[in-house]
Amino acid sequence: MRIAAGLIFAGAVSLCASGVAWSQTPAPKSAAAPQAAPAPAPAAAPAPAKPVCANPNALGIARTVEIDTTGGPGFGFEHFKQLDFLRDHEVVLTFDDGPWPLNTPSVLKTLAEECTTGVFFPIGKHSTYYPEILKQVAAAGHTIGSHTWSHATLTNKKLTEDQRKEEIEKGFSAVKWALGASPSPFFRFPALQHPPEMVTYLGTRNIAMFSCDLDSFDFKARDAKQVIDVTMKKLDKLGKGIILMHDFHKHTAEALPELLHRFKAGGYKVVKMIAKTPVQTIAQYDDEILKDAKLPTVSSRPVSSVVQTISE
Ligand SMILES: [Zn+2]
Repeated sequence: MRIAAGLIFAGAVSLCASGVAWSQTPAPKSAAAPQAAPAPAPAAAPAPAKPVCANPNALGIARTVEIDTTGGPGFGFEHFKQLDFLRDHEVVLTFDDGPWPLNTPSVLKTLAEECTTGVFFPIGKHSTYYPEILKQVAAAGHTIGSHTWSHATLTNKKLTEDQRKEEIEKGFSAVKWALGASPSPFFRFPALQHPPEMVTYLGTRNIAMFSCDLDSFDFKARDAKQVIDVTMKKLDKLGKGIILMHDFHKHTAEALPELLHRFKAGGYKVVKMIAKTPVQTIAQYDDEILKDAKLPTVSSRPVSSVVQTISE
């Protein structure tokens, strides 16, 4: 396969071996869990109108590239070295593991202030907990892919091939459910662990894979300063690249305003990546999300029908 041949494993030591510290306890599914299916999804999210940028010194967006995901191309030199499309001093901002309260909205606020954009790789489960936050990501015009259903490491030998496919497919179906529209066919493997047979599978599904060129290591940072220092040091060395961050993490959200200022000051320019066509989800997994979403069963009767004042 063309795809498998293009995959270059970086070995045990990886600059981008990130996401492994994903250990925050997910929110309980009760109150925030989806109760009903949204209206039937259109084929793709409508393209939001280009907002006017109120900040004359904003980082902005230098150019937009459209990706034809046929055959499942791979991006990010840490694992995929075929597609070298970024010019000197160009960066792509990517954010994993959301949507999450406070931190994702904070990242969105900073990106909006700088009139710039990123590619988000949400976790399927998180998307079902906080669909309204994911909708805000889409409404702001950012690109959204997927990062599996439950952030399982897909090289885990305990998982069967079907379970690994389910992680991938249910992730996309969950994001589609949350958005009410199909996301981009952009996928990032948790912890950047790429089992070869799943790389081949994603190729057959015409889903692009995103490793990274440089990792902010924000998930291990002590504070925002460390996120900034590590990222700038690596970026100044490489001169360009797809940058891996996590909108899930507080320190990333705190670091982002200063980090984007430093990008601007360093002459770096942001490239927006969009997909030529949305992902085609599989009905079986869309149905599984709907089934999950119906639990627990809660009465939808209006409060006035349930609670009556009988004396005051
Ligand atoms: Zn992750």
